[in-house]
Amino acid sequence: MIFFLYAILALFSFMFFLMLFLPLSFLGVAIMSLINAPVQLFYLLAHPEVRKNHALEHATIHVLEELVPLKLSGLSNPNGFIIQGISDPYLVLHAAQEAKGRLLSGEKDLAVHPRCGTTTVVTALVFAVLFIVFSIVFGLFSFVNLLLSLLLATILGSVLSPWVQRYITTDWRVDDVEIERAELIVKGWSAHGVFVHTRKGDIKWSIS
Ligand SMILES: [Zn+2]
Repeated sequence: MIFFLYAILALFSFMFFLMLFLPLSFLGVAIMSLINAPVQLFYLLAHPEVRKNHALEHATIHVLEELVPLKLSGLSNPNGFIIQGISDPYLVLHAAQEAKGRLLSGEKDLAVHPRCGTTTVVTALVFAVLFIVFSIVFGLFSFVNLLLSLLLATILGSVLSPWVQRYITTDWRVDDVEIERAELIVKGWSAHGVFVHTRKGDIKWSIS
């Protein structure tokens, strides 16, 4: 009986601390996102070569996923992009060239991908804005505000992501991007992916 009472007390104490400190710790996350997310988006806006490689990366993944039953991922930088989850450089090079041709012939939707890292950045930014606004409006950092902000940010993040990808994190106008070669990247004992080299630039940032 005593043990049961202690267990209930411990559970209520845990719930109390959770409801008190979880919203406060998420406030820290929200403030960081409010700074980090716009910095990442503005970087991409200022670097068209990364946006174009990012569009090519998405389009290449779309082309490859039409050919092989794999779930691929990628990362872009000013020098090109890596496709992870595949180890055939010839297939990836062929897909990248087809992707470029299809983007330029009007298939702009290929530049948008549902599994893009942009969704995480947008969701984090929407969460930060909602959580801070709700906290000011309702007067406190409550658990309900936290759950409501997380739920709305998850929904709005995936709704807004295609738009943000289309206008901010990618650029489908890849006519001036030269696809040079594809290189198998091996880390340790297994293939890490295939890097597609495009025209030269300095590595400063990556987006998945
Ligand atoms: Zn992406």
